[in-house]
Amino acid sequence: MYDFDLFVIGAGSGGVRAARMAAGYGAKVAIAEDLYMGGTCVNVGCVPKKLYTYASHYRYDWQDSRGFGWQAEVPEFSWDTLRDNKTREISRLNGIYASLLEGSNVKLYKGRAHIEDKNTVTVNGESITAKYLLIATGGWPFVPEFPGNDLVLTSNEIFDLPKLPRRVLVVGGGYIALEFASIFAGLGSDTTLSYRGEIPLKNFDKDVRDKLFQECQRHIHMQMESNVSEINENDSGLLVTFAEGNKLEVDCVLYATGRKPNTARLGLKNTAVELNPDGTIVVNEHFETTDPGIYALGDVVGRLALTPVATAEGMVLASNLFNGTSKTVDYLNIPTAVFSHPNVGTVGLTEEEATKTYSNIEVYDSDFRHLKHTLSKNEERTYMKIIVDKDTDKVLGMHMMGCDAGEIIQGLAVAMKCGVTKSQLDATIGIHPTAAEEFVTMRQARN
Ligand code: NDP
Repeated sequence: MYDFDLFVIGAGSGGVRAARMAAGYGAKVAIAEDLYMGGTCVNVGCVPKKLYTYASHYRYDWQDSRGFGWQAEVPEFSWDTLRDNKTREISRLNGIYASLLEGSNVKLYKGRAHIEDKNTVTVNGESITAKYLLIATGGWPFVPEFPGNDLVLTSNEIFDLPKLPRRVLVVGGGYIALEFASIFAGLGSDTTLSYRGEIPLKNFDKDVRDKLFQECQRHIHMQMESNVSEINENDSGLLVTFAEGNKLEVDCVLYATGRKPNTARLGLKNTAVELNPDGTIVVNEHFETTDPGIYALGDVVGRLALTPVATAEGMVLASNLFNGTSKTVDYLNIPTAVFSHPNVGTVGLTEEEATKTYSNIEVYDSDFRHLKHTLSKNEERTYMKIIVDKDTDKVLGMHMMGCDAGEIIQGLAVAMKCGVTKSQLDATIGIHPTAAEEFVTMRQARN
């Protein structure tokens, strides 16, 4: 009756996973993509960002090596090499995504899909029908309105600059702002971060935010309670005027002020799909929109804009539609990391959140110098924090700022998922000498 059982719009993390899983359950599936295979994460997000983070960290590794006997100075950095190697790797991944879809028997349409009615889309003028539609179109960087906002760049363009800017202003205080300010500072740009609030990473644990702020100040000019009012181009760069009265000349301004769901020009007016006030698509716990048979997941529904969340949603949806299940995604205790310098890793409740829900919490924390830095003389600190419900002994949250925080918190997130208690952490033998062992050796609650 229909050309396909499922037609997916958007070949990003969530869309590709849903399409492949659905095909694996025997469904006839097609997917449309008008930009890049793999979506934001692969092309202008997680993957290239992490590669650039590695690149920037070498500066500190060179510096640290001196205390261990290596006499070399920090060598010259080639932006062209990094950018071009990154582009080659991303092209390789694009090809892998396309062949994974092909290997799963998912038909790929290269073009923009437009919804004509709840069972029909058009791509490049071709009309295609499907029993179910899935909207997995992700998000797009948001830049506020102000004079000169056409002169700024976003994470869509920043990876492919023709050369490394000598002076950079990053605006925002979230994941992307912290990560890119750290990247540019490490690569050698004179970097300023302008944030409208008091201290970045608003919804993270306050102690972690404070510690990261102190660390960032060692590499980045941290300009807090700061608001850009205007940007003008002159002969020597971009002149940024702040509402507070100060000015700053830079070569590049990166706006990292959040992302908006990608719902424009999709044909939603031909459906009964409703939007939330922030523009995300309204879905129920099974990712069904307000128009039955049309589904949406990932950044476009905005539950948590993280790749592993979108893939989890994609797997649940495919299983429910074509494998007879009625699963939901458990959004509790989802770990996350900010790949700033140093990294932040977090799972569970912040102290501020825990205090609101639990009347009797205990906090364990530790602020120390990593063993490596006893010889490197690097001033960087490592910070770890555990929040416990004293009544049940259950661990409510674990937070870290320091080297490999994301890697360490990932393992602890498994324990949190299993409902780990403080006594169980205490009964765990540490691996010595590591930084991570601190999480199982903190015995004294903070007053
Ligand atoms: P975030 O939502 O993390 O941060 C946006 C920042 O911009 C906030 O600090 C916010 O301030 C500020 N802001 C918002 N509007 C304005 C404005 N009009 N003027 C000035 N500042 C403004 O968004 P990002 O763009 O950093 O990242 C988008 C999402 O992508 C993240 O939320 C995350 O889910 C995902 N991501 C995840 C990564 C990871 O897992 N490592 C890496 C990168 C992105 P305020 O704090 O005051 O609201």
